[in-house]
Parts: sequence; C-alpha cells; structure tokens
Amino acid sequence: MERPQTFADIALRPALQETVAKVGYLKPTPIQAYLIPRALINRDVIGQAQTGTGKTAAFLLPFLNSWQPGEAPGPQAIILVPTRELVSQVVEEARKLTPEPQCKTVAIYGGQRIKGQIDAVRAGLSIAVGTPGRVLDHLARGTLNFSNVRYVVLDEADRMLDIGFRPDIERILRRCPARRQTLLLSATLPETVLKLATRYMVKPIHINLAPKRITVEKIRQTYITVDKERKFDLLKLVLEREKPKQCIIFCERKRWAQELYEDLKNHDMPAGVMHGDMEQAQREKVMQRFRAAKIELLVATDVVGRGIDVTGISHIINYDLPIDPENYVHRIGRTGRMGKDGIAIAFVTPEQGELLTNIETFINKQLDAEEIQGFEAFRKRIETTSEPAEEKKQVPVFGRKRRNYRRGI
Ligand code: AMP
Repeated sequence: MERPQTFADIALRPALQETVAKVGYLKPTPIQAYLIPRALINRDVIGQAQTGTGKTAAFLLPFLNSWQPGEAPGPQAIILVPTRELVSQVVEEARKLTPEPQCKTVAIYGGQRIKGQIDAVRAGLSIAVGTPGRVLDHLARGTLNFSNVRYVVLDEADRMLDIGFRPDIERILRRCPARRQTLLLSATLPETVLKLATRYMVKPIHINLAPKRITVEKIRQTYITVDKERKFDLLKLVLEREKPKQCIIFCERKRWAQELYEDLKNHDMPAGVMHGDMEQAQREKVMQRFRAAKIELLVATDVVGRGIDVTGISHIINYDLPIDPENYVHRIGRTGRMGKDGIAIAFVTPEQGELLTNIETFINKQLDAEEIQGFEAFRKRIETTSEPAEEKKQVPVFGRKRRNYRRGI
C-alpha cells in the first residue's frame, strides 16, 4: 500500500475532507497516512505512536468516514483512554472533525455526576469516549448499550494497563459484538499490551512509527545538578533566564506539586497546578486556561501531565527527576510538538546520579550538563576517614567526573 501524500489521496468522503481542510489539516501526518487507509479497509490495526503525532485524528477519521445518518442506536464507536484529560481532548478533536451535527460524541468519565452523562447518552450518541472504569459503570447500570458497537479504539493502551485498567478493558471488550473493528494505539508495546491484542483483535496490522529517540531528538535536553533545598532558587533563576513561552514543571508527587505551586504563588510567580487529587472541574478549568495561554507555568504530576497536548509549550522542567525512565520520555514529549523545537531541563540532586543514568540508558542519549554559577551541587566527602572535620572538603558530584566514572574511564 502506497503512502498517501494528501487527504484527497486517502479518499475520505467529500464532507469529511471539507471538515479536515476547515480544521486546517493540510496533509496527513505519518501515522495518519499509514493508519487511515488500513483502517478504511476494515482491518484491525495496532499503531505504535505517541501523542503529538496526530494519532487522535488517525483513529477518528476512519469511523467518521463510515458513519451514516440513520444508523442503529449508538454508540457505534467506543474509544477508551486512560485519563479524564485525554477524554476531553479526544472529544474536542472528534467534535471538530465531525461534519454532521447528528453524529454526537459524549464524554464518559468519573469525577463528574453520572446523571448528566446518562442524559447525554439518552439524547443519542454515535461515539462514546471514556475511561474504562466509568464506561463499565454505565454498562453495569444499563445506561450504555453496546449491542451496536462496531468500532473500538484502545488509546494509550500501555498507560491504561499501567494504571490497572486491564480487567475493566477486558470486561468491556467482551461486551462488544464480535463483529467489530478494533484499533489499538500505544507508545510502547510491552508483553501485556500484545497479549491484549492477541486476545481481542483479529489479525491486526502493525504500524510502528514511534521510535522514541526520534521524538525526543528534536528536544534540547540538559540537566543541572542542585542540592534539594536549593531547587526552588534554581527554578526561579532558570525561569528568569529562559523566559519560557509556556512551561510545565513536573513533580513526582501530588503533594510536592501542590507545595511548589503554592511557593510559586507566594513568590509572585502565578502558575497553575494539575494533579490527581484535584476535582475534575478544577483540572479542566486549569487545562482550558493553559491551552488558551492564560497560564504560562503549569505544575503537574505524571498521570495528568501525560495527556496534556498544547502546541505552545516551549519548556519542560523536571523539577523532580522521574523514578520511571519512561515517564521522562512522556514528560518531555509535551514540548517539541508537531515538529517544533523544545527545551527540557532536569534538576538532579547529588543522590540521583543513578536515576539519571537509567534515563540516559533508556533514551539512548546523554544529557548535557549545564553549569550554573552558584548552583554546583556539593556533598560532604564520605566520612570514613579520621580527618579532622575542618579539613573535609566539598567535592562536586556530577559534571565530567560523573561521566568518566560511569564509563569506567
Ligand atoms: P495528537 O497526536 O492526536 O495528540 O495530535 C497532536 C496535535 O496535532 C493536535 O493538536 C491536532 O489537532 C494536530 N493535528 C492532527 N493531525 C494534524 C494534521 N494532519 N496536520 C496538522 N495538525 C494536526
């Protein structure tokens, strides 16, 4: 199958082509060019692609292409995603790309009163976009009927399994008619995801366009060593120096994110914050303001941060280094969207040398060390000798020394 260069080559129905043009998509992104033609011939497809590549439109357009007025009562398509933010983003994209107002998309997620969702479903829908837990809730209550579902998408399947959604996803898939098309999108394809695919998909075509290194190579990545208690001062300095257009500052814990947000506020540096302890409505408000560029700095944790898709993000600051190297890739992938360049700066404390090495091994690239005067991290020499205390010098931990040591030179 040749790779189509334009949406006209893909031969979408005319109304859909018009909407795509109106939205401003001039030509298909690689994942769209590969995935859409294969899905249009009703094959199951596994697409290995990350956010920021146009994967949402890639899985929405084949369904929208086949949609016809007067179909059996919906939903005809069900799209499962890991987080509420992602639900909102997919819903937004679906509404943008749908030519006919009768083809309705409904968001189904927790943290919002179920009553409103039930009313929206009753009013009729074609596409249900939801998190697995809440979708299952609706199935159990009998408020969603899956007997006419013919198109199923598992988006960010690896993340959904990470969060522990596997049993819910399987229950949902078992409730869908066997005669259906199933698409699975995932940044990585670990054994668990492949098992799910083998069990619930029929001879899927596999598309891999997301070697991680390619995505992160566009991003200038550096690290700065800093003592834990001086991180906040360093952050102020870096923000002053970089003057980011928009920046996400990642923290490892919800409480740390909240504290950092409050510290910023107390230092006259207005920011937004997003973490899993916040109400859905609050999170959405922050997201909207960030998307509208009314917020320049956003403090976030991984689960919510991962779904953020805003093209204006110029900087990512890893205020806390992620324990899981994969999260590093997801975090920095929030910048450098749609071919733009981005900057990612990691704060590394003296104890975190190994963590940094893990990340570098995972991305197969060494981060450049940045020296900022006054912020060289020091630690006391290990006190194993009987040297008098006043003679104990402080020695820098990272920089060249760390590298040479690590490489055994
Ligand atoms: P996604 O990977 O689905 O999160 O998409 C990332 C961004 O790319 C979103 O803001 C989309 O609106 C945008 N986008 C998707 N497809 C195209 C395209 N063909 N041309 C330009 N922008 C696109």
